[in-house]
Amino acid sequence: MTTSYRHLLVDRFDDGAIVRITLNRPKQRNAQNRRMLEEIDDAMLAAEADDVARVVILAGAGSMFSSGHDLGSREQLADMEAGPEQLESYRTRGAGRTGAESWMLQEWHYFFTNTLRWRNPRKITVAQVHGPVLAGGLMLMWACDLIVAAEDTEFCDLVGARMGMCGVEYFGHPWEFGPRKAKELLLTGDSMTVDEAYRLGMVSKIFPVDELAERTLAFARRIAATPTVAALLIKEAVNQTVDNMGFYNSLQASFTLHQLNHSHWAQVHDDGFPAARSEDGVPEPASAPPIRPAQRSEAG
Ligand code: ZN
Repeated sequence: MTTSYRHLLVDRFDDGAIVRITLNRPKQRNAQNRRMLEEIDDAMLAAEADDVARVVILAGAGSMFSSGHDLGSREQLADMEAGPEQLESYRTRGAGRTGAESWMLQEWHYFFTNTLRWRNPRKITVAQVHGPVLAGGLMLMWACDLIVAAEDTEFCDLVGARMGMCGVEYFGHPWEFGPRKAKELLLTGDSMTVDEAYRLGMVSKIFPVDELAERTLAFARRIAATPTVAALLIKEAVNQTVDNMGFYNSLQASFTLHQLNHSHWAQVHDDGFPAARSEDGVPEPASAPPIRPAQRSEAG
Protein backbone atom coordinates (compact mmCIF):
# COMPACT_ATOMS: atom_id res chain seq x y z
CA MET A 1 0.00 0.00 0.00
CA THR A 2 1.40 3.37 -0.93
CA THR A 3 -0.04 6.49 0.53
CA SER A 4 1.42 9.80 -0.42
CA TYR A 5 1.47 12.65 2.02
CA ARG A 6 2.69 16.20 1.61
CA HIS A 7 4.61 16.32 4.89
CA LEU A 8 5.29 12.67 5.75
CA LEU A 9 7.21 9.73 4.36
CA VAL A 10 5.95 6.26 5.21
CA ASP A 11 8.28 3.26 4.83
CA ARG A 12 7.63 -0.39 5.58
CA PHE A 13 10.23 -2.92 6.63
CA ASP A 14 10.23 -6.68 7.25
CA ASP A 15 7.15 -7.33 5.09
CA GLY A 16 5.28 -4.59 6.87
CA ALA A 17 5.94 -5.63 10.48
CA ILE A 18 7.67 -2.28 11.05
CA VAL A 19 6.20 0.96 9.74
CA ARG A 20 8.27 4.14 9.84
CA ILE A 21 6.51 7.48 9.66
CA THR A 22 8.96 10.32 8.98
CA LEU A 23 8.08 13.98 9.45
CA ASN A 24 9.24 15.54 6.20
CA ARG A 25 9.33 19.33 6.37
CA PRO A 26 13.08 19.61 6.85
CA LYS A 27 13.32 23.24 5.67
CA GLN A 28 10.85 24.21 8.41
CA ARG A 29 12.70 21.97 10.88
CA ASN A 30 9.66 19.68 10.89
CA ALA A 31 7.44 22.34 12.42
CA GLN A 32 4.04 20.73 12.85
CA ASN A 33 1.45 22.57 10.83
CA ARG A 34 -2.21 21.52 10.78
CA ARG A 35 -1.78 19.53 7.58
CA MET A 36 1.10 17.55 9.06
CA LEU A 37 -0.91 16.82 12.22
CA GLU A 38 -3.80 15.57 10.11
CA GLU A 39 -1.42 13.42 8.08
CA ILE A 40 0.20 11.94 11.20
CA ASP A 41 -3.26 11.01 12.45
CA ASP A 42 -4.07 9.37 9.13
CA ALA A 43 -0.78 7.44 9.01
CA MET A 44 -1.10 6.32 12.63
CA LEU A 45 -4.66 5.10 12.10
CA ALA A 46 -3.58 3.27 8.94
CA ALA A 47 -0.80 1.50 10.85
CA GLU A 48 -3.27 0.75 13.63
CA ALA A 49 -5.69 -0.85 11.17
CA ASP A 50 -2.99 -3.02 9.63
CA ASP A 51 -2.76 -6.37 11.45
CA VAL A 52 0.66 -7.08 9.95
CA ALA A 53 2.20 -3.94 11.49
CA ARG A 54 3.70 -4.52 14.93
CA VAL A 55 5.94 -1.56 15.60
CA VAL A 56 5.60 2.03 14.40
CA ILE A 57 8.67 4.28 14.33
CA LEU A 58 8.10 8.03 14.33
CA ALA A 59 11.13 9.89 12.95
CA GLY A 60 12.08 13.26 11.48
CA ALA A 61 13.92 14.12 8.24
CA GLY A 62 16.68 16.73 8.16
CA SER A 63 18.55 18.40 10.99
CA MET A 64 16.13 17.72 13.83
CA PHE A 65 13.13 15.66 14.87
CA SER A 66 10.73 18.58 15.32
CA SER A 67 10.95 22.23 16.28
CA GLY A 68 7.39 22.13 17.66
CA HIS A 69 4.18 23.61 16.40
CA ASP A 70 4.18 25.75 13.27
CA LEU A 71 3.52 29.25 14.56
CA GLY A 72 3.02 30.94 11.21
CA SER A 73 4.92 29.64 8.18
CA ARG A 74 3.59 30.86 4.83
CA GLU A 75 2.18 27.40 4.19
CA GLN A 76 0.42 27.32 7.54
CA LEU A 77 -1.12 30.77 6.95
CA ALA A 78 -2.30 29.70 3.47
CA ASP A 79 -3.98 26.61 4.96
CA MET A 80 -5.76 28.85 7.49
CA GLU A 81 -6.86 31.59 5.12
CA ALA A 82 -10.55 31.63 4.18
CA GLY A 83 -11.13 30.44 0.61
CA PRO A 84 -11.25 27.27 -1.45
CA GLU A 85 -7.74 26.21 -0.35
CA GLN A 86 -8.53 26.50 3.35
CA LEU A 87 -8.24 23.26 5.29
CA GLU A 88 -11.66 22.04 6.33
CA SER A 89 -10.56 21.83 9.97
CA TYR A 90 -10.14 25.62 10.07
CA ARG A 91 -13.92 25.90 9.59
CA THR A 92 -14.93 23.12 12.00
CA ARG A 93 -13.90 21.58 15.34
CA GLY A 94 -14.40 24.79 17.25
CA ALA A 95 -13.13 27.13 14.53
CA GLY A 96 -16.72 28.28 14.00
CA ARG A 97 -17.09 29.28 17.65
CA THR A 98 -15.70 32.39 19.34
CA GLY A 99 -13.35 33.45 22.12
CA ALA A 100 -11.72 31.04 24.53
CA GLU A 101 -14.14 28.29 23.46
CA SER A 102 -12.84 28.39 19.91
CA TRP A 103 -9.18 28.39 20.92
CA MET A 104 -9.73 25.61 23.46
CA LEU A 105 -11.59 23.37 21.01
CA GLN A 106 -9.05 23.80 18.23
CA GLU A 107 -6.18 23.00 20.60
CA TRP A 108 -8.14 20.11 22.11
CA HIS A 109 -8.61 18.54 18.68
CA TYR A 110 -5.19 19.24 17.22
CA PHE A 111 -2.73 19.32 20.11
CA PHE A 112 -4.35 17.38 22.93
CA THR A 113 -6.72 14.57 22.10
CA ASN A 114 -4.81 13.65 18.94
CA THR A 115 -1.64 13.25 21.03
CA LEU A 116 -3.55 11.00 23.43
CA ARG A 117 -4.81 9.03 20.42
CA TRP A 118 -1.20 8.50 19.31
CA ARG A 119 -0.37 7.24 22.79
CA ASN A 120 -3.02 4.57 22.48
CA PRO A 121 -2.53 2.56 19.28
CA ARG A 122 -2.71 -1.21 19.84
CA LYS A 123 0.89 -1.36 18.56
CA ILE A 124 4.24 -0.45 20.03
CA THR A 125 5.48 2.96 18.96
CA VAL A 126 9.09 4.15 19.00
CA ALA A 127 10.12 7.79 18.68
CA GLN A 128 13.43 8.14 16.82
CA VAL A 129 14.68 11.63 17.67
CA HIS A 130 17.72 13.77 16.91
CA GLY A 131 18.84 17.37 17.21
CA PRO A 132 16.86 19.77 19.37
CA VAL A 133 13.41 18.41 20.26
CA LEU A 134 11.44 21.53 21.05
CA ALA A 135 8.04 22.19 22.69
CA GLY A 136 5.40 20.46 20.53
CA GLY A 137 8.15 18.05 19.39
CA LEU A 138 8.23 16.74 22.95
CA MET A 139 4.52 15.95 22.78
CA LEU A 140 4.89 13.82 19.69
CA MET A 141 7.85 12.01 21.19
CA TRP A 142 6.22 11.49 24.59
CA ALA A 143 3.15 9.94 23.00
CA CYS A 144 5.35 7.04 21.87
CA ASP A 145 6.02 3.97 24.02
CA LEU A 146 9.79 4.12 23.66
CA ILE A 147 12.24 6.87 22.74
CA VAL A 148 15.63 6.37 21.10
CA ALA A 149 17.86 9.35 20.41
CA ALA A 150 20.95 10.41 18.52
CA GLU A 151 23.98 11.68 20.42
CA ASP A 152 23.20 15.27 19.33
CA THR A 153 19.71 15.35 20.87
CA GLU A 154 18.53 17.84 23.49
CA PHE A 155 15.05 18.40 24.87
CA CYS A 156 13.50 21.76 25.59
CA ASP A 157 10.07 23.25 26.16
CA LEU A 158 10.74 26.94 25.72
CA VAL A 159 7.16 28.20 25.76
CA GLY A 160 7.45 29.32 29.41
CA ALA A 161 10.55 31.41 28.85
CA ARG A 162 9.66 32.59 25.34
CA MET A 163 5.85 32.78 25.20
CA GLY A 164 4.66 33.19 28.79
CA MET A 165 2.91 29.84 28.67
CA CYS A 166 2.83 27.05 31.26
CA GLY A 167 4.27 24.41 28.95
CA VAL A 168 2.80 22.72 25.90
CA GLU A 169 -0.73 21.39 25.68
CA TYR A 170 0.07 17.74 26.49
CA PHE A 171 1.68 18.27 29.88
CA GLY A 172 3.89 15.21 30.21
CA HIS A 173 6.74 17.16 31.81
CA PRO A 174 6.42 16.09 35.48
CA TRP A 175 6.01 12.46 34.42
CA GLU A 176 8.92 12.49 32.02
CA PHE A 177 11.42 14.88 33.65
CA GLY A 178 10.33 14.53 37.29
CA PRO A 179 8.42 17.28 39.12
CA ARG A 180 11.30 19.54 40.16
CA LYS A 181 13.22 19.21 36.92
CA ALA A 182 9.99 20.02 35.07
CA LYS A 183 9.66 23.25 37.04
CA GLU A 184 13.31 24.17 36.53
CA LEU A 185 13.31 23.56 32.79
CA LEU A 186 10.02 25.37 32.22
CA LEU A 187 11.02 28.34 34.38
CA THR A 188 14.46 28.77 32.76
CA GLY A 189 13.87 27.55 29.21
CA ASP A 190 17.03 25.45 29.54
CA SER A 191 17.25 22.10 27.79
CA MET A 192 17.87 18.59 29.06
CA THR A 193 20.82 16.74 27.55
CA VAL A 194 20.36 13.34 26.00
CA ASP A 195 22.61 11.79 28.65
CA GLU A 196 20.43 13.18 31.43
CA ALA A 197 17.32 11.92 29.62
CA TYR A 198 18.94 8.49 29.37
CA ARG A 199 19.80 8.55 33.08
CA LEU A 200 16.16 9.36 33.90
CA GLY A 201 14.94 6.50 31.73
CA MET A 202 13.08 8.79 29.33
CA VAL A 203 15.41 7.69 26.53
CA SER A 204 16.12 3.97 26.04
CA LYS A 205 19.09 4.15 23.66
CA ILE A 206 21.58 6.74 22.45
CA PHE A 207 23.03 6.06 19.00
CA PRO A 208 25.60 7.88 16.84
CA VAL A 209 23.84 10.35 14.52
CA ASP A 210 24.81 8.55 11.31
CA GLU A 211 23.67 5.18 12.67
CA LEU A 212 20.40 6.36 14.19
CA ALA A 213 18.01 5.05 11.52
CA GLU A 214 19.69 1.67 11.12
CA ARG A 215 20.08 0.98 14.83
CA THR A 216 16.55 2.13 15.60
CA LEU A 217 15.37 -0.43 13.07
CA ALA A 218 17.43 -3.12 14.78
CA PHE A 219 15.90 -2.14 18.12
CA ALA A 220 12.41 -2.13 16.59
CA ARG A 221 13.04 -5.64 15.22
CA ARG A 222 13.67 -6.92 18.75
CA ILE A 223 10.41 -5.37 19.94
CA ALA A 224 8.55 -6.71 16.89
CA ALA A 225 9.68 -10.24 17.79
CA THR A 226 7.66 -10.13 21.01
CA PRO A 227 4.27 -11.86 20.59
CA THR A 228 1.79 -9.13 19.77
CA VAL A 229 -0.57 -9.99 22.62
CA ALA A 230 2.26 -9.75 25.16
CA ALA A 231 3.52 -6.49 23.63
CA LEU A 232 0.07 -4.93 23.82
CA LEU A 233 -0.61 -6.08 27.37
CA ILE A 234 2.81 -4.90 28.57
CA LYS A 235 2.06 -1.49 27.08
CA GLU A 236 -1.42 -1.45 28.59
CA ALA A 237 -0.26 -2.66 32.01
CA VAL A 238 2.19 0.24 32.20
CA ASN A 239 -0.15 2.83 30.70
CA GLN A 240 -3.04 1.78 32.93
CA THR A 241 -0.69 1.95 35.94
CA VAL A 242 0.31 5.54 35.22
CA ASP A 243 -3.30 6.39 34.42
CA ASN A 244 -4.27 5.07 37.85
CA MET A 245 -1.46 7.17 39.32
CA GLY A 246 -3.23 10.16 37.82
CA PHE A 247 -1.52 10.64 34.46
CA TYR A 248 -4.68 10.91 32.37
CA ASN A 249 -6.55 13.17 34.80
CA SER A 250 -3.49 15.35 35.32
CA LEU A 251 -3.15 15.85 31.58
CA GLN A 252 -6.77 16.99 31.42
CA ALA A 253 -6.30 19.37 34.36
CA SER A 254 -3.10 20.84 32.95
CA PHE A 255 -4.77 21.37 29.59
CA THR A 256 -7.40 23.57 31.27
CA LEU A 257 -4.62 25.59 32.94
CA HIS A 258 -2.98 25.96 29.55
CA GLN A 259 -6.24 27.40 28.21
CA LEU A 260 -6.47 29.79 31.18
CA ASN A 261 -2.95 30.94 30.29
CA HIS A 262 -3.94 31.60 26.65
CA SER A 263 -7.07 33.44 27.83
CA HIS A 264 -4.97 35.70 30.04
CA TRP A 265 -2.80 36.83 27.15
CA ALA A 266 -5.79 37.14 24.82
CA GLN A 267 -7.45 39.47 27.35
CA VAL A 268 -4.30 41.52 27.90
CA HIS A 269 -3.67 42.16 24.20
CA ASP A 270 -5.88 44.48 22.17
CA ASP A 271 -5.60 42.17 19.17
CA GLY A 272 -6.39 39.05 21.22
CA PHE A 273 -2.96 37.48 20.65
CA PRO A 274 -2.99 34.45 22.99
CA ALA A 275 0.67 34.34 24.14
CA ALA A 276 3.19 36.77 25.63
CA ARG A 277 5.12 39.29 23.54
CA SER A 278 8.31 41.19 24.30
CA GLU A 279 6.34 44.00 26.00
CA ASP A 280 5.08 41.35 28.44
CA GLY A 281 8.61 40.43 29.48
CA VAL A 282 9.72 37.67 27.12
CA PRO A 283 12.57 38.12 24.61
CA GLU A 284 11.96 39.17 21.00
CA PRO A 285 12.15 35.95 18.96
CA ALA A 286 14.94 37.38 16.78
CA SER A 287 17.13 38.39 19.74
CA ALA A 288 16.34 35.52 22.12
CA PRO A 289 19.43 33.85 23.57
CA PRO A 290 20.30 30.38 22.27
CA ILE A 291 18.90 27.37 24.06
CA ARG A 292 21.47 25.78 26.31
CA PRO A 293 21.53 22.73 28.50
CA ALA A 294 20.90 23.10 32.22
CA GLN A 295 24.27 22.72 33.98
CA ARG A 296 24.62 21.72 37.58
CA SER A 297 27.00 24.56 38.60
CA GLU A 298 25.92 27.38 36.30
CA ALA A 299 23.25 29.82 37.48
CA GLY A 300 22.62 31.38 34.09
ZN1 ZN B 1 -1.71 26.30 23.30
